[in-house]
Parts: sequence; structure tokens; C-alpha cells
Amino acid sequence: MQNQIHQYLWEAAQVWESGVLPSAENLARARASLPATLPETGTSLASVQNHILGDIVPAFNGGSISANYYGFITGGTTPAALFADNVVSAFDQNVQVHLPNHSIVTDVEYNAIGLLLDLFRLDRATWHNGTFTTGATASNIIGLACGREFVLQKAAQTKGCRLQSVGEEGLFEVLNALSLSGVQVLSTLPHSSLVKAAGVLGIGRSNVRNVCRADNPLLFDLDKLEKELARADKVSIVAVSCGEVNTGRFATSGADLRKIRQLCDKYGAWMHADGAFGIFGRVLGESPEFATIKKGSEGIELVDSITGDGHKLLNVPYDCGFFFTRHQNIASQVFQNANAAYLTAGNSDGPSIPSPLNIGIENSRRFRALPVYASLLSYGKSGYEKMLERQIRLARKIYGWIWENSVYTALPQASSKAELLDQTFMSVLFRANDEGLNGQLGSKINESSRMFVSGTNWDGSPACRIAISNWRVDVERDFALVTEVLAKVAQS
Ligand SMILES: *Cc1c(COP(=O)(O)O)cnc(C)c1O
Repeated sequence: MQNQIHQYLWEAAQVWESGVLPSAENLARARASLPATLPETGTSLASVQNHILGDIVPAFNGGSISANYYGFITGGTTPAALFADNVVSAFDQNVQVHLPNHSIVTDVEYNAIGLLLDLFRLDRATWHNGTFTTGATASNIIGLACGREFVLQKAAQTKGCRLQSVGEEGLFEVLNALSLSGVQVLSTLPHSSLVKAAGVLGIGRSNVRNVCRADNPLLFDLDKLEKELARADKVSIVAVSCGEVNTGRFATSGADLRKIRQLCDKYGAWMHADGAFGIFGRVLGESPEFATIKKGSEGIELVDSITGDGHKLLNVPYDCGFFFTRHQNIASQVFQNANAAYLTAGNSDGPSIPSPLNIGIENSRRFRALPVYASLLSYGKSGYEKMLERQIRLARKIYGWIWENSVYTALPQASSKAELLDQTFMSVLFRANDEGLNGQLGSKINESSRMFVSGTNWDGSPACRIAISNWRVDVERDFALVTEVLAKVAQS
């Protein structure tokens, strides 16, 4: 049965045959096919299928299916993950309470968290507390929520105050009781979703503070950081950009991370790492070719919580992220689903598996661990390592070509080609030297419909980013395609 489900959807995916973007005609036709109101009576399954495959699907983009869609960081869907995701939909298991006699799903989730920890070389004995989320944004919300709880509990203990749990007593009450004016998040080039998380959690977007060095916006100024941590009126969470979204570069290497850890311990701060894609640097082996990238996530085991994305470099379908923490009990103090006796977990003889509803945002939720589990088993450690190596090699080859080309400039500015390539992960940031061309660079590249790039801003002017994240990457084939398109645009 599973094979039939899989076959059907795999074939459905092949029906999609446009370029990286749908044609204007297909978009218009799909839009015109949408019903204005809900029909009184339903129609046959076959006709709904025809409508979806014939009208809607041709207006999709190739974000996941094409190896040459380099916008955002979309990843793709490995065959194993696609198979498992279809099983998830077909059997529609609700992963909410750990009920070991009712279903195996919570055991599989817990196991999949362990497999991910193995992939990222994080010690299970310390790190096997975490959960699956809808993506890195949700993981950042959980990370900052755990941090908020932790730093205020610490401050309350230091001051001998009775009120201390935000989850239980409320942020306003705890801050008031502690005579504090707020919680702040200290970071360098944080992803926009981290700022959003601060907004959601009552920390405030404007309380995400930049503590970067004057000569490099991604690196921490440790003196500035300590000054902020030492403030008497605030408690702090330090957020490490473990992979900055424009450049793919890292805010720390092992040595400064250890110094930041010491400062956080000294001042009772929580340390969170947003490793949505950067945590995958830990998949790489010992080869000197990738030593600089590996350094970027070195020491990450010292932080308190880690955000990771499933639907980016892990190549499982939307929506999927994960969250790890070293602190076994902190998430349940924030996310405890209070006073619902019917949701009490059952007992089992195995490991003590927490009920997902008590450590994450949702109650009822999708069995999104299964595609992760399937893909990890299908590729193993070395399969993921090889996949990432191909992505990095392609990024470096493209950067090398851009470096040599007089029409384009590789960003950030580097003193030598060797230095640029050495620091390159899976992102290529660049612009055209001619201002006129640069203003339209993204749309000119995307008009080719052979590849898709994201527009962004760097140093105050427009730039383009090629983010390589799909499992289908083929270095030689894709290098030829990308440079052909870039050369053509350069001549236009
Ligand atoms: C993509 C990304 C996010 C947000 O992830 P979603 O999966 O879109 O929620 C957060 N942080 C970083 C560094 C990212 O690259």
C-alpha cells in the first residue's frame, strides 16, 4: 500500500515540468481556476485530482524539485523523506502525548532526535532533550522562551525573590518583582526570525541589540558584550548566528565561543545558537578542504540551546525544524500544558520520553519526525557528509568564476580568492559592478527560468545570493548551467 501512495505522489511531482518559475500563462490559468465561493455540492475525487494536477501544480515553482533553484534556502525532498511524508499523511498520526501502548510515534520522534544528535556530533548524554518544530522560526521562539525562563529564574535566585517562573507567574510580574526593566537579546547579524521571536515573547524587537565589532558586523565585540551583560537593569540572552543567512559565514569559531560562554556563566545569561543551516557544518569530516567551515560550529556544544532546520539542508519537506537544549527541564517549565488530566502520559519501561505537548508550542501536531528518521537512515552520516561537500564545492566553484569575471564582484570583499573560497559554505553573494545592471540583476537571472536567485542587500546596496541546498546538486552540471546564465546576463 505504501508503495502505491509513494508512486502516485512521485509521479505527481514529475507532472511539474516548468522551469524554476511557472510561466505567466500557467499562473494566470491557475488563478482563474480558483472557485469564487464554496460549491453547494462536492465533486468527484477524480475531478479534484484533475483540477489540482492540471491547473494548480503547473503554477508551482521548482523550489524543491529543481537543483537550480537557489532562492532562499529551500532544500529539497530526498526520496526517503518523500516516501515517509506520504506515510505520515496517509496514517495521520497525532504526536501529542507519549502513550507507549497506543502508538510508536513518540518513540520514533525521540529516536530521530538522537539520530540528529549523532549527525551533528552532539553528545546524547547531554543533549537528548529537544523536539521537532515547524521550522527554525519556531525553534528560535522556543530557544528564546527557554532563555527568558532561565535567566529570570537565575536572577530571582540571586536576589532571593519568591516569584521566578515566567511560564507560571507571567513576564510582567517577574520583572516587577525583580525590579528589572526587561530581557535583552545580544547578537550579531541575527536572522530576522530571531527578532520576530523576541517580538512574540514580549521581549520586544527593539531589545535585540547588536554587539558586533566595528570592523566586522558578524563578529562579537567581547567588551561591548560584557558591558551589556553587566547591566543591572536587564537580564540577557546571547544569540549566536551559527551561519549568517546572506553570506553563510559564522559569528564564532571555537575560541571566542568559549570566551562568550564564560561571560554568560559569569552574568547568568543564556546562550542560544541559531544554526538553522550552519549546524550542518558539524557533519563535515576532518579534511583541510572544509576546516574553516567546521570551525564555525566548533564549540557549539557549549551553548544552552540550538535551532536547526529540517526543510533546508536536511532535505526533508516543509515544514520541519528541530530544537535541542542541554537543560532537561526548562522547556517543560515554559510549555507545560496545564491541568488537562486526560492528556496524562502513560508509563513505559524504555527511556523516559517527554510528551511533545509539554515541551513545544503545539498540542496536536503532525508526525514530522518520520521523514527525518527515514532520510537519516537512508543516507547515514556519510551520505549527508557527501551531499554537503557537493554543495560547498559547487558554491566555491561559482565564487571562483565570479572572482575572475570583470562584470561581477564577489561579496563580502575579500583580500584574495583563496581566502574567499576558504570561507565559503553553501552561499554565494555577489553583485554586478554596473549599477544599472545590478539593479536588475536578480530579475535578469531569474528571467532565464533556468535558475533562480534571491535578491538581498549588502553594505547598503542590492546584491544577489545563490544558496545551494538541494540534495540533487551535481557540481559539474550545475556549475556549467550557472556560469552560462551569468555570462549571458553579463553580456546583456
Ligand atoms: C531560514 C532561517 C531561519 C528561519 O527558518 P524558517 O525555517 O523559515 O522558520 C532562521 N534562522 C536562520 C539562520 C535561517 O537561515
